[in-house]
Amino acid sequence: MPRSAAISSQEPSINAAALGLKSIGRLYHNLSYDELFAHEDRNAEGNISENGTMMVDTGKFTGRSPKDKYFVHQKPSFENIAWGKINQPMALEIFDELYAEVLEYLSGKDLYVTDGFCGANEKTRKRVRFVTEFAWQSHFVKNMFIRPDARELSDFAPQFTIYNASNLTNKNWKRHGLNSEVFVAFNIEKNIAIIGGTWYGGEMKKGIFTMMNYWLPLQGILSMHCSANVGKDGDVALFFGLSGTGKTTLSTDPHRKLIGDDEHGWDADGIFNFEGGCYAKCINLSAENEPEIYHAIQRDALLENVVADEDGVIDFDSDAKTENTRVSYPIEHISNHDPSLKGEHPKNIIFLTCDAFGVLPPVSKLTKEQAMYYFLSGYTAKVAGTERGVTEPQATFSSCFGEAFLPLHPTTYAKLLGEKMEKHGVNAYLVNTGWVGGGYGVGKRMSIKATRACIDAILDGSINNVEFDQTSWFRLNIPKTLSGVDSNLLNPRNSWVDKEAFDRAANKLAGMFVENFKKYTIDGHDFDYTQAGPEV
Ligand code: ATP
Ligand code: MN
Repeated sequence: MPRSAAISSQEPSINAAALGLKSIGRLYHNLSYDELFAHEDRNAEGNISENGTMMVDTGKFTGRSPKDKYFVHQKPSFENIAWGKINQPMALEIFDELYAEVLEYLSGKDLYVTDGFCGANEKTRKRVRFVTEFAWQSHFVKNMFIRPDARELSDFAPQFTIYNASNLTNKNWKRHGLNSEVFVAFNIEKNIAIIGGTWYGGEMKKGIFTMMNYWLPLQGILSMHCSANVGKDGDVALFFGLSGTGKTTLSTDPHRKLIGDDEHGWDADGIFNFEGGCYAKCINLSAENEPEIYHAIQRDALLENVVADEDGVIDFDSDAKTENTRVSYPIEHISNHDPSLKGEHPKNIIFLTCDAFGVLPPVSKLTKEQAMYYFLSGYTAKVAGTERGVTEPQATFSSCFGEAFLPLHPTTYAKLLGEKMEKHGVNAYLVNTGWVGGGYGVGKRMSIKATRACIDAILDGSINNVEFDQTSWFRLNIPKTLSGVDSNLLNPRNSWVDKEAFDRAANKLAGMFVENFKKYTIDGHDFDYTQAGPEV
């Protein structure tokens, strides 16, 4: 199919004043994919892979900068926000100073302005605008947000605007009492966010997700850090989990239609995606293990920080630039997606964890109380660095599997989830996509194939036809057999050769869960699900 790569000379429909800028160089408003590709190429922003996909490097930052994220501390939003290390306050005067600097910095430059929707539900979607310096950043948000049609773009009035001044650093960060020269700051009352000092596109994606997590629950709608897909009978499954646990990998399922891979809402009508695209990890990606994602990497997708040779042949196993190599692509690149981006009330909810301690079972069925406990705990464990000899995993507890993106108190989301699960009779499961047969260094990670077999058994209901055991250490209900899974793996204590080492690891992890959960039982919180967790 011939595709024009012409750089359009169409007049943009907005001007500098509409953006609050004194002046503007060239304004590139809502460019097509082909135009963006041509700009990326012309600006030498990236290289082209063997199959014609644009590859860019995101600069010094290959991930988000959570310590540099702030909200203006002002009325009335300050009463709603759960202030702390995640939601840090910024004085209005400082925001205004930085905002003025950002506008000054962007004025006179060539800019890419991109408009998109966040939220597939027409009733609650938000119109969002992104002002960026690079074509690839425009390309990234075009991939990730819902793409309005020509008519919707013609009179697009943004409800929230992100000004991204990647190359502007805050020289006065010490005087401002901030963490570094990088800033990602939100002014809720003004419906503006400003970014400086980092090029990373994920700040814009997760920035708007953060705002959705502010707006929706205040209207009684649950917002969730989860992926979603739907079976032939319309049965919807949600997959919650922290980064790297398998939301994207496992929701992209050849037998089920993909609704979305990362951010969803749940209202009285059912669930809906916030986004119009996916953002998949590329490290160790193979056509054999993850064919749908592998083949989504084609023209219009955007690869980040991957390593390729001079012919554009990608080495997916290389972490030379970062372990967090990524590709963003419009959801249409997954042929088996649901174009409505919506689904009924879910039938099954799966909490994904990547337990590098090798203690949690590959699959367990949760009681209602356990579901609340594991949702609020938000556990996963990372493998510590790549230093030789360091084999001790690091536990992470992040409420609701996404505390970094939650401006309100975690119990706000947990209460909404509990009510909805109760009302719609939803089943909950915990799936460990991490280590079996020993912790990191001794055992090995569950294969994607075996994890998929566990998930298939949940989704086709066959897990309800087998006998269950209860583990002594976390009191989790685990199936004794499942088709496609080695029965020996289903009970972690059985799969470890050294039983004493297992008991020590289980005890240690249980202690960390108990310690972490204390925050919900002190300070007058009424969320006491301690009984549903492990004992020490
Ligand atoms: P993020 O929130 O950062 O997008 P995510 O939850 O979507 O994270 P994935 O992108 O699905 O995480 O990453 C899971 C990674 O782990 C992939 O690189 C996948 O290939 C790998 N993996 C290895 N074993 C498994 C398994 N058993 N189940 C799922 N993923 C696995
Ligand atoms: Mn993902």
